[in-house]
Amino acid sequence: MIKRISTLLLLVVIVLIGVLLFNTFRFGKSVIAKQETVSIPNVSGDAARHLSEAIQIKTISFGDTLAIDTTSFTQFRSFMETSYPTIHQKLDRQIFNQFSYVYTWKGKDTSLQPYVLMAHMDVVPVEAVAESKWSHPSFSGLILKDTVWGRGAVDDKSSVIGIMESVEQLLKENYTPERTIYLCFGHDEEISGKRGAGSFSKWFREKNIRPALVLDEGGRIDREHFERVKRPVAVIGTGEKGYVNIDLTVEVPGGHSSMPLAETAIDILNQSIVKIRAGQMPALITPSIQELLNRTGPAEPFMNRMALSNLWLFNGMLVKELEKTKESNAMIHTTIVPTIIKAGIKDNVIPSVAKATLNSRILPGQTSEDVVNYVKKVVNDPRVSVKKQTISLMEPSPTSPFNGPAFKKLEKITHQIAPDAIVSPFLLIAATDSRYFRGFSDAVLNFSAMQDPKGFHGIDERIGVSDLNRMIFFYRMLITQ
Ligand SMILES: [Zn+2]
Repeated sequence: MIKRISTLLLLVVIVLIGVLLFNTFRFGKSVIAKQETVSIPNVSGDAARHLSEAIQIKTISFGDTLAIDTTSFTQFRSFMETSYPTIHQKLDRQIFNQFSYVYTWKGKDTSLQPYVLMAHMDVVPVEAVAESKWSHPSFSGLILKDTVWGRGAVDDKSSVIGIMESVEQLLKENYTPERTIYLCFGHDEEISGKRGAGSFSKWFREKNIRPALVLDEGGRIDREHFERVKRPVAVIGTGEKGYVNIDLTVEVPGGHSSMPLAETAIDILNQSIVKIRAGQMPALITPSIQELLNRTGPAEPFMNRMALSNLWLFNGMLVKELEKTKESNAMIHTTIVPTIIKAGIKDNVIPSVAKATLNSRILPGQTSEDVVNYVKKVVNDPRVSVKKQTISLMEPSPTSPFNGPAFKKLEKITHQIAPDAIVSPFLLIAATDSRYFRGFSDAVLNFSAMQDPKGFHGIDERIGVSDLNRMIFFYRMLITQ
């Protein structure tokens, strides 16, 4: 009897190992495919100088309710006009809310659906305390050893320059694209994007212009984050997380701080936040992240390939692994974090009201209502009111297909400019202007052909001239191929 059981057990183990190995080998091991490679020419001698000039113009978005410096935005318009004379001579330009622009480059075949190339001209401010930490003044636009320094070098003036340089050159060569190309530049992406992309996207809708591709910032050729894969991964964003703020409010009688009650409004609010931060909403592997795992998996070491190809057994392990870094954790969870806390007006008065705002980024497949319900369930305290704000609410965007012609085209060009890279869809965890086009374009994709950007939204923002060249070349191939 015992012998029979152990034979059976042995058989089960052998079958199990067989299944694991079968799936692992079927999953494959990646080999770098031989591609026709294109060497990237030094496309424009003026590009770095133009980027430097663009950085020096302080087109700052300070905040939702704070005014912009209109002089800078006017100056930026003049900069565009003088730096790109052929575009301004040959293309039609429309102005939206004073400082956002749409240029129309009419194609030979107007029956083809157009492309929209997007970028934003505004930048985030540099905090006064951070300025001294920069290696070079933050708006200097310094060009040093083939690197352009300054706020906006990466986000997103390099894309503005990349698009403008490529089109200016093609126009000088008397090139006419097959399909119509729109160049769209917003001036308020870093706040809400409503006045820029919000309004020009409305114009596209009203005119019933349905782009075959809307290309905006977001993805890049990533050489840092995929260590185990030992190859760069070019990530093309196919969808964005949603955005909701949730207010927690506690109102209980306050009083004199010399005789505190057992629990104050601050205590109750504090406990709620601790409960929320102690856990997370359940993990969800969305289709674009699943595809990212499928495409990068074959380049992983053997044991990881086995785990990735046998998720029926290793899903829990995979989730735990992805939860280890904040970037990958954000790709599989709707995140919830407190960003504002307000309570108290005087040191010896216990406040009767305490408020917190939770900022949540919602995964596709979940909704803002799911987040509210989760927060209510976890807080589980009738003294805490839980309310979602509607003003900045954005449900998760529809996801663009990664097997459609637009994605495939970007994939092909990316292979040409970075033959060692794995190209994959991914989920954008921050919001971009392109969200205004989701739902009425066949493909809204987020990608810039940069591979070594530094200091995005932070200190020492800078980009290599070779990256800028690659971006210009990429836009040029996209337009001409
Ligand atoms: Zn940006």
